[in-house]
Amino acid sequence: MKINHLGIATNGIDEALKFWQGALGLVNVHTETVEDQKVRVAMLPIGDTKIELLEATSEDSPIAKFLEKRGGGIHHIAVEVENIEESLVKLKKEGARLIDEKPRVGAEGCLIAFVHPSSSNGVLLELIQKQ
Ligand code: ZN
Repeated sequence: MKINHLGIATNGIDEALKFWQGALGLVNVHTETVEDQKVRVAMLPIGDTKIELLEATSEDSPIAKFLEKRGGGIHHIAVEVENIEESLVKLKKEGARLIDEKPRVGAEGCLIAFVHPSSSNGVLLELIQKQ
């Protein structure tokens, strides 16, 4: 396993890029809207992992709700697994609370599923399997 990316909730990707790209020097290599999750994402590689900047595309987006409650910050950690179906079965068997019982398609066509923060010490966990 490895950390595929860290998701950061922002009030706007363009504004956030002024810091992450302009000031810090990372490079935005990919921007995409994920309709299913009502978010727009920007991916900035850093070493073996990436920073994923997240922006809400509608008022009922999970990112809009997160910003309302917490005002930005780290939204989730994405752990890359080899077989997401197997990981979900194991987590469920171990008593973890799953947000997604079945994988769905996320950014860059990867399979993803979220684990509820109540099972992982308050951190929203995204499982991700590259296609
Ligand atoms: Zn993510």
